[in-house]
Amino acid sequence: MSIVLHVDGDRWRAHLDRTVAANPGLVPVVKGNGYGFGAPVLTGECERLAGQAGVALIAVGTYREAGPALAAFSADVLVLEPYRPTLHGDLAVLSEPALVHTVTSVADVLDLHSRAPGARLVAEGLTSMNRHGCRVEDYADLVTAVGSHLVGGTLHLPLGSGHQAEVSAWLTRFPTLSTWFLSHVSPDELGRLRTAYPGVALRPRVGTALWLGEPAALTVRADVLDVRAVAAGSHAGYRGRSMGAGHLVVVSGGTAHGVAMEAPSAVSSLRQRAIVLAEGALEAAGRVRSPFSLPTSTTGASTSLWFVEPPHMQVSLVHVPQSTIPPAIGDQLDVRVRLTTFWADDVVLT
Ligand SMILES: *Cc1c(COP(=O)(O)O)cnc(C)c1O
Repeated sequence: MSIVLHVDGDRWRAHLDRTVAANPGLVPVVKGNGYGFGAPVLTGECERLAGQAGVALIAVGTYREAGPALAAFSADVLVLEPYRPTLHGDLAVLSEPALVHTVTSVADVLDLHSRAPGARLVAEGLTSMNRHGCRVEDYADLVTAVGSHLVGGTLHLPLGSGHQAEVSAWLTRFPTLSTWFLSHVSPDELGRLRTAYPGVALRPRVGTALWLGEPAALTVRADVLDVRAVAAGSHAGYRGRSMGAGHLVVVSGGTAHGVAMEAPSAVSSLRQRAIVLAEGALEAAGRVRSPFSLPTSTTGASTSLWFVEPPHMQVSLVHVPQSTIPPAIGDQLDVRVRLTTFWADDVVLT
């Protein structure tokens, strides 16, 4: 019936509390699929953290996400996508006083302030990430245009470490800015930057390391919907794939949930390339390892299962070999998913 994210609430919340306590000024990021939990669950946690730990600012990805966040969170909401007059100029949410906008050009600041006079802004600098931002040579003019409505500067860095020099260059060049929002700066780098710039508030924006930083608290399980014994050489699925002897299992979870649809990855290491090649070869031969496995409790060891064919919209067909005791209808399989591309039918917090 369902594929469900189970959250060990005590363990997960202890990690959230520790992370927030260790990172003064941390801005939780709630965007997209809500990191597998859905935005409402995460916004609810932010509201708890607001009461307990004084979290007074969260970040959302887009203006579309801002409305629900403002309705569910009692303090401020930062929009990470930069304000663009042609795209966002008519939105009713613009003049919400709790909203903090991101700007990258003087023209956008003037336009936004003509529509929402008191609007508070962060000014984004263009980094080596090369996504959004104002070039460093134009940044002083941007800060001047924002004037007293400036909440801080903001820099979005690529993944990985080694950002200290790049961040330092901005902090040194614009010493009048007393607050900077930073993404993807490691705790070590942040510590060193705080030591080097003691008068500056450095506020990390964190999504993945906050919400998904305690993987042991998170399990995904899917209901077994059908189990049938199959003889060697029997066929199944839209493509009539053949199977070995054993059992055909129909299990909840398909493309609609993001099952077996990994986000495109850079595949940069030789080992990763070898894995892709090997799995590609198996795929060409009609065999793909599925993210479903029989739980340890049934077999003594977790047994990963193979797809009979690629996942369907709401279910998947997997094969249990003859040598393995099959699950029963109503049992659950463990599922390995990338939570940033996962949509659960339900999230159960215990
Ligand atoms: C998504 C995003 C973040 C959070 O990224 P994580 O890797 O999930 O921590 C921070 N800053 C910006 C600008 C983002 O778009």
